[in-house]
Amino acid sequence: MENPCIICVAITGSLPRKADNPAVPITIAEQVESTHAAFEAGATIAHCHVRNEDETPSSDPEKFAALKEGLEKHCPGMIVQLSTGGRSGAGQTRGGMLPLRPDMASLSVGSNNFPTRVYENPPDLVDWLAGEMRSHGVKPEIEAFDLSHILKAKEMWDKGQIVDRPYVQFVMGVKNAMPADREVFNYYIQTVHRLFGADAPWCAAGIGPNQIVLNDWAVSSGGHARTGLEDNVRLDKTRLAPSNATLVQRVVALCEKYERPVATWRQARAILGLKPVSA
Ligand SMILES: [Zn+2]
Repeated sequence: MENPCIICVAITGSLPRKADNPAVPITIAEQVESTHAAFEAGATIAHCHVRNEDETPSSDPEKFAALKEGLEKHCPGMIVQLSTGGRSGAGQTRGGMLPLRPDMASLSVGSNNFPTRVYENPPDLVDWLAGEMRSHGVKPEIEAFDLSHILKAKEMWDKGQIVDRPYVQFVMGVKNAMPADREVFNYYIQTVHRLFGADAPWCAAGIGPNQIVLNDWAVSSGGHARTGLEDNVRLDKTRLAPSNATLVQRVVALCEKYERPVATWRQARAILGLKPVSA
């Protein structure tokens, strides 16, 4: 049966700078241009962070509003996913953009270690972010840095804190968190299918050189794939990635290899249970 692959492009993130790779889009205009090229290449979800002029991470709702507006204008149909991740702010400032009612927002439901610090997601903040997403009609994407995060999503779905069947992203290869381990990856898939149904869609992201590894595992296992400069700025050991679109093209090539069509934005919205077009 045909199973189109949704490609998510994480365009900017909160860490990589121009000094790491000049292709990292920082200003809103650069972000819209980079996303547009990635959309043309086959990406249908844009996972977005915003930055200040000095490239430091921001959680300013006005910046998010400008980016969302630019993407809706220049990439019509593309799914806009705003990050509520913990590097761009503390506490409830992380969810200050949710009243903008983007199609989706990322939601971390538990804590873990990051390369140099603790990624703190205390229970009261997780509950608050989920409540904001529910009240503004924003579909969460559960960022699973650990197996327990998948089971926490199940608990939150059972309690009605998450309205739709959870859509989980497996994040592997973050230093000091879950490495890119194939047996764990397989168990993540098994767990998603056991808790959310055999047809439950899921996605995977790998950090740094693990990006292409996770792309391969996800596309060949029937999942959806995340790529982009947020997670990885290189094509290989010696070459920087020239653009987000180039990283998307690597996933498109894997889809060809494993004979999966690349999802159109209409198919992506149907698979994720989103409204056909952005309101
Ligand atoms: Zn992110």
